[in-house]
Amino acid sequence: MSCVQRALGIRLLFRCFWEESKLSLGNCNFTSNASATSDTELAGRNFVIPPSLHSRFWQRTSSSVCQMARSNSTLSKGMDLKEVLRILYRFAPCSLAEDWDNVGLLVEPTPPHQVTTMFLTNDLTEEVLTEAIDKRSDLILAYHPPIFVPLKRLTMANAKERIIVRAIENRVGIYSPHTCYDALEGGVNDWLAEGLGTCSVEPLTTSRKPLANGWTHKIEYLETDSSAMSLPPDWSGSISPVTKIQTTTGIQCVVTCSEQGLVSIMKSMEDQPDIKKTFQVTKLEKLPIPGTGTGRMCKLQNPVPMATLVQRVKEHLGLQHVQLALGSQKSQDSEVKTVAICAGSGASALRRVPADVYLTGEMSHHDILAAVARGTSVILCNHSNTERGYLHVLGAKLTDLLKGAVNVVVSSVDADPLNVV
Ligand SMILES: [Zn+2]
Repeated sequence: MSCVQRALGIRLLFRCFWEESKLSLGNCNFTSNASATSDTELAGRNFVIPPSLHSRFWQRTSSSVCQMARSNSTLSKGMDLKEVLRILYRFAPCSLAEDWDNVGLLVEPTPPHQVTTMFLTNDLTEEVLTEAIDKRSDLILAYHPPIFVPLKRLTMANAKERIIVRAIENRVGIYSPHTCYDALEGGVNDWLAEGLGTCSVEPLTTSRKPLANGWTHKIEYLETDSSAMSLPPDWSGSISPVTKIQTTTGIQCVVTCSEQGLVSIMKSMEDQPDIKKTFQVTKLEKLPIPGTGTGRMCKLQNPVPMATLVQRVKEHLGLQHVQLALGSQKSQDSEVKTVAICAGSGASALRRVPADVYLTGEMSHHDILAAVARGTSVILCNHSNTERGYLHVLGAKLTDLLKGAVNVVVSSVDADPLNVV
């Protein structure tokens, strides 16, 4: 077979594979990633191909893949972007994100936009975008927001702008969950904690539910037969409808409002002294969401030596090397009971948290020195190495939530830029 014939053959196999996987595989997805080693937990959904099998897979399995795809009666029909977003928001509301973050739909193609392939990546670099376009992705879920600070222009001058322009030109939407998925119960931080061994896990700071309609205060007052409160006209939705309950002393009225609504009501109250006497204002509290929030505190059921913990982290993240700063007076044999973790850049979440070990992606030199001086050891794995592995858990979860209507693909190009050499 000549080189040209071989190239054509490979191209045909490749084309067949993607055509079939997009059109006919339904709830079967093919995922290739260097850190993936197990296909058991994704059985029947995603086929995770270990790197060592890549070439064998492409050379020997493509034809059987095409055949299997043809025989599969479930079609991947795709799903409208709006419905996909509804499912994504229900899975992890954007309200879980930190205030400083920029999450949700960042690039929206002109509707209607059918999503047949959703592409998952930790970082959306130009190389990853090329892979996503090659794989005919309709929506990219980029864990880190590709748009973070406001853009004043969209030119070819730098990678950030080029990525957005190319995504729009190719009608590829971009969605970013970032700290929503960090806070989420069963999200990135919980996945990171899974590698430590059996332990109890609690958020370092618990997330809270947003207040309904942004109403921050509850007002209660009593109307009588001779006095009725007339609320100010509400032009901006800052005051809720009044709930009235007949009691023996009069009509108990309850209304919720925003800070702005409270000011308007107080102004109206000035003309109604009888009602003003019964007036009570309560500031509403956001309710905590158990199991959800920033970072995690992990208490190991069976304490282990530091060396064992390091080995577990390496195995869980598929890393050959991590960086370790031993706490003052600590050694590789020191017993570890508590590990405070924060995926990515953890200094602000971990600072001053009492724990035997901090596990995160990166921390500044001075934050490490401060932790070590307090006797806390620090394990650093490089930023995105503490995040990327979650994409495989997410891929299986989203395939389920999207009911097999959307092919979910994890990038095989996306990787941490730092390597130990
Ligand atoms: Zn990060």
